Amino acid sequence: MSLNKLKSDIIEIGKLLHQKNFVASNDGNLSIRYNDKILITPTCTSKGFLTFDDIVEIDLEGNILKGIKEPTSEMLMHLTIYNFRNDINAICHAHPIYSTAYAITGKSLSKKVLPEVIISLHEIPLVKYSTPGTKELSKKLIPYVKKYDALLLENHGALTLGKDLWEAYYKMETVEHFAKILFVAKQLGKVKELNSKEVKKLIAQREKFGVRKDIGKN
Ligand SMILES: [Zn+2]
Repeated sequence: MSLNKLKSDIIEIGKLLHQKNFVASNDGNLSIRYNDKILITPTCTSKGFLTFDDIVEIDLEGNILKGIKEPTSEMLMHLTIYNFRNDINAICHAHPIYSTAYAITGKSLSKKVLPEVIISLHEIPLVKYSTPGTKELSKKLIPYVKKYDALLLENHGALTLGKDLWEAYYKMETVEHFAKILFVAKQLGKVKELNSKEVKKLIAQREKFGVRKDIGKN
C-alpha cells in the first residue's frame, strides 16, 4: 500500500461524507496510520473537496512531518485512539444528522435490535461532552475506545474506528443507518429488543465476519 493510495482513499471517503450529508462545511476529520506516520485531514477545509496537498503527514506525537496546512483541531482524539488500539489503523469522525440528533439529546444507540449492529459494533455508547480537540475529551474517550469501534460524542457527532479507512467509513454508515431506523421505528411504536439468548447467538458469529470477539466487553 503506497502513501498516495492511502491519500486517495482519504479524498474519496471525504467526498462520500460530504455527499451523504454526514458533514457540512468543514466538519469532520479522517486519518490513517501507516507504519510510524499518520495521514490526517487539515483544519478549515471541506472534506468534500480535498486534494493530495491538503493531507497532512504527522508522527505519532502529532508533529508535522509534511504538509502545507495545519492538521485538524481534533488531532488529539486521533492520537489517543491510535495509542490505545494497536489493531486500529483508521479513524472517521463526522456529524451525521440522525446520529448527532441522538448525541445532542444525550441518548446512546445501545438498543439491541439489529443483528448486523450487534455483530459488528455491539452497541454505540455516548461519551459525555467535553470541548472538541481538548485533553479532557481524549481522557473521557479512553475507557470507550478500548472496548468499542463506534461512539457517539455528546453534543458533537460520531466516531468510528477501523483496520482501514473503508472499514471505519462503513461503520459510520452503519451508525447513521441505525440511528435513522431507530428514529423512524419510534414513530411507529415500541421498539422490540432482542433477548440475551438471541444476542449471545449473534455474538458467537463475530469470528465468521472477522469481528473482534470481545467488542463491547470489559
Ligand atoms: Zn467534530
